[in-house]
Parts: sequence; structure tokens; C-alpha cells
Amino acid sequence: MKKLPLVKAGKYEKSGNIIFDRPEIVLGIEHHPLFGKFKRGDIFLSSNPMMLGKMINAVSTMYSVDRNSEFSHSGLFINNTEILEASYTVSFDNFITKYEGDLVLVGRHNKMTNKTFDLGIEKIKEHIGQWYPFHRLALHFFNLAQYIHWNKVVCSELIAKFLFGAGLRDYKYYGVTPDMLADEIEHSLNDDRTGPQYEIVFKGKIPTNIYKRCEACGVNAFTTTDNQTCPICYTKTSLKAHGVFLPELIKYNKSKT
Ligand SMILES: [Zn+2]
Repeated sequence: MKKLPLVKAGKYEKSGNIIFDRPEIVLGIEHHPLFGKFKRGDIFLSSNPMMLGKMINAVSTMYSVDRNSEFSHSGLFINNTEILEASYTVSFDNFITKYEGDLVLVGRHNKMTNKTFDLGIEKIKEHIGQWYPFHRLALHFFNLAQYIHWNKVVCSELIAKFLFGAGLRDYKYYGVTPDMLADEIEHSLNDDRTGPQYEIVFKGKIPTNIYKRCEACGVNAFTTTDNQTCPICYTKTSLKAHGVFLPELIKYNKSKT
């Protein structure tokens, strides 16, 4: 993908009568350090701060063996940027922009191929567009989800069912929690028991894009919190955080990608 500045120099007006210089350059998602790192079939876990996530987390902490539930949400990559997940509905989204700043774990099953991926998708495609089965969360509270179901799945069950369809996991996908999937990604062994079943592609907080100014050449740029190299003059340590978030610009930037 070609890397292009998306906003030209000039004045930029923010609501509330505060006027900022418009950045000379706004970096697109293709500049993100995690861009291109993931691929179709990768499984992700996230710590979702939403109410729904808190509910799921309370439930899985209650039943997890180590009583420490880091992850409350899960989904899968359908290509290197887009994910399929059961949030409010079973739907598609952009991983990096959606989970920016969140703690995530991304694992790659060592037998995931285009063929197994297609088989897995075939198994779960009936769920795409379905509303989140909130009534099933109540069942999770009583640990009954594995016995009663109405052919709708929570986020981690969707992934377990996908893995079952792909031939990479057993059939017991009802009642599977994000915590259980995280355990499998981090600790399960391959069929020969000679090594891990999953490659851990990334674990940590997804870097957040913020507004920074270059102290060497004066350019403004949207870039990740950890990037200090100016995209214009290439000075290595000259980018300093502006301390200003411009959501309107992020929105504008996203509309151009
Ligand atoms: Zn510079």
C-alpha cells in the first residue's frame, strides 16, 4: 500500500472555537506498527472495557482455573486488517482502529491454512448478522451454557465453533470462554507434543495514534505513541507529543482510507 499524507497544511477549526494548525501530514492506518502483522485465521483476545466485557469477565473469572481473567472478548481475522467477531451483532470491523489502546493477545494456530479457514467460516456463517445472545450471558453466570443453547453463540463460542469447523478443535464449543481460548493459545501443545500449538503473533497494548509535532522541522503528524521519528525530515528523536487529540481529524482520516 502506498503511504500518503492525507491532510494538507492550513488552519483547522475545532468545535469550541479553539483553532489549531491543521497538520501538514496525517498518517494513515498503514503506518501503524502492527499493520500487516496479522493474517486470516489469526485468533484474537481483547480486554474489553465495555459493560458487556465486564459481565463476561466476571463470569469467566468465576469459573477459570487460575481465577485471573485477563481477556473478556475474542474474534478472528478474515484478512490482515479485518476481523469477524460477536459483539452486539456478529459482524466485521477493523482490528487496529477498534482495539487501539486495548490489551490484546493474537495467536496463530500452526495448522491454519486457507483451506481450514474456509471450512471454519462455512461452519459459522449462519451466525453472521445475528444479535448478541444476551440471555446466554445469564446462563454463563450459572455455568449452564454448555447444556442449554438456542443455536446462537457468544464471542468465544463463535471462535471455538470456527476452530471446530476448521478441524483444529473438538466439538464442545458451547460454554467456551475467552479465558479458555487465551489459555489454549498460550499453553496448548501441538499434536506431536513437541512444541506449542499456537504462535503468539502479538501480546500487549495496541499502540495508540496521537498528534505530535516535530521539533526539528515543525511538521505536525498523527503517529503512534511510541514513534519519535519524523515522517518528513526523518530526525530520529524529534517528534514530541502535542497533548491534543483531534477526533474530527481521525474521523476525516479514516473517511479517506
Ligand atoms: Zn521533522
